[in-house]
Amino acid sequence: MLNVPPQAFPAPSSQQRAAAGGRAKVPLKPGRSLMDWIRLTKSGKDMTGLKGRLIEVTEDELAKHNKKEDCWICIRGFVYNVTPYMEYHPGGEDELMKAAGTDGTDLFDQVHRWVNYESMLKECLVGRMAVKPIAAPKEITSVSEEKKQLNGMLPEKKVLGASKDLTPSYDWFQTDSLITIAIYTKQKGINAELVILDCEEKRLRGEIIVDDYSYLLEVDLNHAVQEDMAVNIAEKVGKVEIILKKKDTVHWKILGQPLENHNTFMKRTDRGLFYRKCKLVSKTEVTHDTKLFCLLLPESTHLRVPTGQHVYLKQIIAGTEVVKPYTPVLPFLPLDFQEPSCHDSAHIYLMIKIYSCGLFTQALDRLQIGDYISVSNPEGSFKKSQVQNSEELFLLAAGTGFTPMVKLLNFALTEVSCLRTVKLMFFNRTEDDILWRNQLEQLALKDERFEVQFILSQPVRDWVGKQGMISSSLLSEFVKRSRKDSKVLICICGPAPFTEQGVQYLKDLGYSQEEVHPFTA
Ligand code: FAD
Ligand code: NAP
Repeated sequence: MLNVPPQAFPAPSSQQRAAAGGRAKVPLKPGRSLMDWIRLTKSGKDMTGLKGRLIEVTEDELAKHNKKEDCWICIRGFVYNVTPYMEYHPGGEDELMKAAGTDGTDLFDQVHRWVNYESMLKECLVGRMAVKPIAAPKEITSVSEEKKQLNGMLPEKKVLGASKDLTPSYDWFQTDSLITIAIYTKQKGINAELVILDCEEKRLRGEIIVDDYSYLLEVDLNHAVQEDMAVNIAEKVGKVEIILKKKDTVHWKILGQPLENHNTFMKRTDRGLFYRKCKLVSKTEVTHDTKLFCLLLPESTHLRVPTGQHVYLKQIIAGTEVVKPYTPVLPFLPLDFQEPSCHDSAHIYLMIKIYSCGLFTQALDRLQIGDYISVSNPEGSFKKSQVQNSEELFLLAAGTGFTPMVKLLNFALTEVSCLRTVKLMFFNRTEDDILWRNQLEQLALKDERFEVQFILSQPVRDWVGKQGMISSSLLSEFVKRSRKDSKVLICICGPAPFTEQGVQYLKDLGYSQEEVHPFTA
């Protein structure tokens, strides 16, 4: 018996119903939830029709399997028979059929590259492609010539697409006690949020985000280093120094052995997600069903989640890796507007609603203090510059759609001097569901630029505030420009249909695409 609650079918708000990125959403039939799929894959049923045999698949063979009842799809060179999965696909059968008999890698990456298909579809694996099918060209070439020792020489860069001159490079040097790796990004304005470092045992991984590209240093170090490391960033020249403390005062002849993706520079979206294990250090109640989880990053990790971005959490549930996105918040809403650099960078705070039938959140809720959970690098399309030029910021949040607004509010009120107004319209079912109501009201009292309105869809007591659902009439009043030519930004986040409707209303009200930012996966 699997240790998860039985499920009938995902409720309308379920992520199992809503495919990411505003794609098609279909109600799944009863008995077709993710948990039901996991159960089926563990049942011993032959999911490929090949009785466990793995085969080499030619392009011609792949193309033949292009019908719902016989559908093969290639993802990153591996071919899966997805026919048994059709009815379980949250985005619907038609979305899956778009890739029938072809290489679906690009389509998959566009919609939900974070979904762990290797684990979810492992029982559907037919085999490998004999010859790689035609797919959109990637930005990176092979790294084979890199398979030599890193002897301090700057190796050849492997970049296509981006100008060679813009490709970062690195160098390293040592003292008796330290190893310093200097990365020259050739870009101004590199800051701490753009540098992600992990060092586990002797394995060093350093990723630098340069616009939409990612530069990766990935080395099996020649000798052991201590857990704590330092990072120095010279913003003006774009130089990043990683300073490692040697465990033993030996002279290093080489830095180490390059790992698979070492010294590559590629589109960020083509880089696989990297996870590190974080320790759960506290879990506090926010409302009757929502908790604030505080995770401690490993000492040898340098990671700051930028405003408006999310991370993925990964857990093994009933033997299958399940991944879900969550948007880090602050431990509380600061009222005194300190510089963000003063905030604690060793912890990640997540405000998570525990659904009584939720697959992932139930497992999360079972975690004990001291347990570990895998946390990915940050992702998301929001850019701070969207706020930096605004005079009025309107935030529309529903339920936990409030989470991206937390850092955004703090950033806007702390760092954006041209903002005259910041208004939050927060939709919830009942008063008991309102997250951080007290703190929001305190903030509104303290800062005259900030205003908050709570809208309840199912008020239970004598609610004197507004009630209802997101609508054009509610919005037209709320998002009105205070001056005819005010530069505005409207951010919206909540259940996918809420966000979609909101975006449509705003469009109908005459707001341009640049003025509206919907948070999606
Ligand atoms: P699911 O199993 O997907 O179910 C969700 C809902 O469906 C619940 O109401 C559940 O009760 C219901 N349901 C599921 N199965 C059944 C069933 N069989 N019968 C009846 N009802 C059912 N969430 C947060 O709380 N905080 C965040 O910061 C956050 N950030 C996000 C960021 C992004 C970019 C995105 C896209 C989503 C974010 N989410 C966040 C949502 C989160 O990713 C998950 O979707 C959410 O936690 C639900 O996961 P689950 O597996 O527990 O629920
Ligand atoms: P909820 O409690 O179910 O709903 C919050 C409010 O939104 C309620 O008033 C609800 O009204 C209303 N609402 C729900 N569905 C609606 C719809 N289709 N149209 C109009 N109004 C609707 O919300 P929740 O359970 O906290 O869920 C939050 C959602 O936000 C999740 O789907 C999560 O994935 C998403 N989220 C996304 C991000 C991101 O960055 N993309 C970040 C965090 C959260 P009624 O229920 O009364 O109808």
